[in-house]
This record gives sequence, structure tokens and C-alpha cells, in this order.
Amino acid sequence: MDIPTEINSVYWDEEKKSWQYKMINVEEYHGFVECQYCHKPISHNIKTDGEFKVVYVKCGCSRLRGFL
Ligand SMILES: [Zn+2]
Repeated sequence: MDIPTEINSVYWDEEKKSWQYKMINVEEYHGFVECQYCHKPISHNIKTDGEFKVVYVKCGCSRLRGFL
């Protein structure tokens, strides 16, 4: 898998009660966790703005709803 320079992360917006997307810059890439159902990445371990973070993405089967 190519190392992404940007990740379209998804997160739950409590105020809007909906999923929101946000592009995150990747400074360093440290791997991902794959979905146990479709084996696509469901979260990425990255460094952005000097901080280590886990960002969630939508996987192929959108099991994310149940996952969070
Ligand atoms: Zn999946």
C-alpha cells in the first residue's frame, strides 16, 4: 500500500448528529488497522501537526457505525 500524504478521516459530529469528513495531513505514517470484515483500512496511525493520532476512515463495508 502506498503511504498516503492526506487522509480523508471520518468522525461523528455530536451537534449535527451525523458523520463528518476532514482531510488530515500526514507527516509520518505508522501503519493502519484493517477492518475485520472487508480487510480495508479502518484506522491509520499517523503523525499530524507534530502529534501522534489515530484517524478513522470509512472502510469498504461501512461497519464503522457498529465499530464506534
Ligand atoms: Zn469493512
